[in-house]
Amino acid sequence: MREGNNRPRPIEPTFDLVLWDKLTLCGVPCKEYKVKKARIAAMKATVIQPIWEELDDENEEEEEAHKRTEKLWKTTWSVFNWKYRPHYQFEAYWRLLHKRHIRALDTTELEERHRFITGRCYNCDGADNIQHAYITCPNVREIWIQAKPILLKLLGIASLDNLELLNSEIIFAFLNFRRTLPKELRQKVILWHGSIIHAITKRREMALFPPTGPDGTAFDYDGWEEIVLKQI
Ligand SMILES: [Zn+2]
Repeated sequence: MREGNNRPRPIEPTFDLVLWDKLTLCGVPCKEYKVKKARIAAMKATVIQPIWEELDDENEEEEEAHKRTEKLWKTTWSVFNWKYRPHYQFEAYWRLLHKRHIRALDTTELEERHRFITGRCYNCDGADNIQHAYITCPNVREIWIQAKPILLKLLGIASLDNLELLNSEIIFAFLNFRRTLPKELRQKVILWHGSIIHAITKRREMALFPPTGPDGTAFDYDGWEEIVLKQI
């Protein structure tokens, strides 16, 4: 036998990015997790309500407004978790609801912590925030407008007079518009809405981190309509 063949291979240093000791389930470290603890935690669970200041209704009594908002979020999470939703829509809609959009960075900003806050929209150079990313950017607004005929065809109805591009409607998957429709058509609106949110997210990611073509040139991407049509 040649010397060295059976020598143990040197162990490579590895860096585990998951802080296993810090992971928790139902508020307890994983190693102390028991099903009973999960049941107790589930009993005390409250609805996650991301803060969307622009949706607050100042005309309502505080308690009434609180109850209404809680109910609204309960409904919204069930829409989000609709089991027939194409899987790639989940992440995009999660980003919107949690205000976790991928941000454009201003790398000219010297202080690193300010770079995320001061990013500019790659389309219009406006301040880049979640409302801008999905609702108010003129370029994104154009997508919502141009996507209306797709919905009209999908629903097979005469007009979309009741559909308004309000902040609340875009965030809550056109809840008020869905209420005006017969039950059997409502999920189609969710599908259409989710596909547009996904297309906007995808388009945004492509613009921020452009993949390069075979010749090393940046890939010019603006195929939102193609993404939407594939999903509905
Ligand atoms: Zn913009």
